Amino acid sequence: VRDLGTPTRSVITTCAYCGVGCSFKAELNGDQLVRMVPHKDGRANRGHSCVKGRFAYGYAEHQDRILMPMVRENITDPWREVSWEEALGFAAKRLRAAQETHGRDSIGVITSSRCTNEETYLVQKLARAVFGNNNTDTCARVCHSPTGYGLGQTFGTSAGTQDFDSVEHSDVVVVIGANPTDAHPVFASRLKKRLREGAKLIVLDPRRIDILESVHIGERHHLELRPGTNVAVLTAMAHVIVTEGLADDAFIAARCAPDDAEGYGTFVSDPRHSPEATEIYTGVPAQTLRQAARAFATGGNGAIYYGLGVTEHSQGSTTVMAIANLAMLTGNIGRPGVGVNPLRGQNNVQGACDMGSFPHELPGYRHVKNPEVRKVYEDLWGVTISAEPGLRIPNMLDAAVAGDFKGLYVQGEDILQSDPDTHHVAAGLAAMECVIVHDLFLNETSNYAHVFLPGSSFLEKDGTFTNAERRINRVRTVMAPKAGMADWEVTQALANAMGAGWSYSHPSEIMDEIAATTPSFAGVSYEVLDQKNSVQWPCNDMAPEGTPLMHIAGFVRGQGRFMITEYIATDEKTGPRFPLLLTTGRILSQYNVGAQTRRTANTVWHDEDVLEIHPHDAEQRGIADGTLVKLASRSGEISLRASVTDRVAPGVVYTTFHHPDTQANVVTTDYSDWATNCPEYKVTAVQVSLSNGP
Ligand code: SF4
Repeated sequence: VRDLGTPTRSVITTCAYCGVGCSFKAELNGDQLVRMVPHKDGRANRGHSCVKGRFAYGYAEHQDRILMPMVRENITDPWREVSWEEALGFAAKRLRAAQETHGRDSIGVITSSRCTNEETYLVQKLARAVFGNNNTDTCARVCHSPTGYGLGQTFGTSAGTQDFDSVEHSDVVVVIGANPTDAHPVFASRLKKRLREGAKLIVLDPRRIDILESVHIGERHHLELRPGTNVAVLTAMAHVIVTEGLADDAFIAARCAPDDAEGYGTFVSDPRHSPEATEIYTGVPAQTLRQAARAFATGGNGAIYYGLGVTEHSQGSTTVMAIANLAMLTGNIGRPGVGVNPLRGQNNVQGACDMGSFPHELPGYRHVKNPEVRKVYEDLWGVTISAEPGLRIPNMLDAAVAGDFKGLYVQGEDILQSDPDTHHVAAGLAAMECVIVHDLFLNETSNYAHVFLPGSSFLEKDGTFTNAERRINRVRTVMAPKAGMADWEVTQALANAMGAGWSYSHPSEIMDEIAATTPSFAGVSYEVLDQKNSVQWPCNDMAPEGTPLMHIAGFVRGQGRFMITEYIATDEKTGPRFPLLLTTGRILSQYNVGAQTRRTANTVWHDEDVLEIHPHDAEQRGIADGTLVKLASRSGEISLRASVTDRVAPGVVYTTFHHPDTQANVVTTDYSDWATNCPEYKVTAVQVSLSNGP
């Protein structure tokens, strides 16, 4: 342990890991960061934190940081360190050359949920105003894009309905496909407190997650469903509620579109959606499901929290809509203690989506086909914006393999490691003429890059992150950008190298532009954020203090819309060769692909990914705890160590994906959500065998 001295000053900023958005005091001795102390005035954390925010910041000063821009003619050449000017000129020239040869739409960008709202806004603006296309997508594509679609369709806005304080008023809490104890620890503490006070808990998860152990006096229901059957279970819950007369008819009559409500009632009442009918393929005992449905409908304030175990499925968007249906059916919208709450995995997933990163939406979730919205930006930016949605990440890669897509600017994202079907991603990247990686470290994607632009850690950023409760938090500069340029300055310089005339001198000016063009952000400025600590959007003339709870008097879309949620089994089937189902998740001390946490002290708590397997399945295969096993699917195979445990049900195996050696996405499939292309990471048919076996 180095003695870093006594702190002499502090800077208040926001954690850059999960979507809870904890506030921290970065305490410094001169320019030396001594420690991160959770900030008691942080509205999301109130002085609490987890081991990631508190300890896992050392990556910012890790020796692996790349601090000089680098270029190379071909991806087989060695990197050459160059000046910023040369790197940006090289990148701009290649991107323009690709467009001249292959057309305007042959290049695009990928924004990151790791970056600030201001950085993200500029990257999508780069595509729309400088590239001249809507080829912008975000890593939210592979996590919460179904939330955007599903909540947009049902409620009219693509965000959680509540603030975190709301859980203190919940009487029954449903957790679906989320593991808050590991993935959103500070929110989990608040949830556990409520459970200790007697709130009921309903968990839909193929794995026995820790939060189940927090219930000591209230009811607890674990619906240990077969991976991929969320929609069937949720629809069966609605069946029980409707057929047993437990629906909130007054709420539905007052708040929801009547024709859709009637159609939905008829749909869910069908006997094929009964718990008894669905038990066969969901694996959830009918009586357990009935009890859970009754508990939710009759238990008082009912809140639903969900994670990627909902979205990362071929029916991810349908599942989000099924959740929204359930909330409307029981009148659990529009007051404290209720609502539909996506637990966002990364710090700024919400913001990345808000800022227009998707290829079909301008900032504020407004479709590019809307001429009035396009005109706002066309007048301001002095360009014509295409009315055609651009390419999503998988479409960019498909087009690259087909020879039609040649240039990509990737900010803060390692798509080769985090996106599905690794071989296909590699083939797409290898087919491009200009791949620009803007990041802290060389990563798997940069193996295919021609330009590497050094990025800034969260400690070097000035801007805002928006957390899972729509709270816009300030991120303040703790130390100067180590590579000499902040990320927003790099994007601006790249735009200008391609002929734009951008002249932002501070991120606050970018926020001012966001506020001037995006109605839900109209009342947001750095001045307001500094005065109020943080605000939750919408923040505008109608809601100058922000909006902790949404849809109080009416839904954003007017009337709430029930959607028909027909269960369609995934095409990923088990069979004799691949009889088990693999699902994936995260552990407390590590984070996603581990690029940051593995370069911090946290790595002492977790130095390899393991495969959880039920004792019955392990015994059948001669596998003991700690044995090295082969995990094989139709896509590929990897090796990792077995952890024999009854946390997973027979027939289900589970692993994390924090270490590059594991390469879990070598085995995942290329199936994806029907509406958004969010990959189906949570269901892969696999076989597990001894590593030295057949
Ligand atoms: Fe950071 Fe999330 Fe932990 Fe809070 S709960 S300290 S935001 S990782």
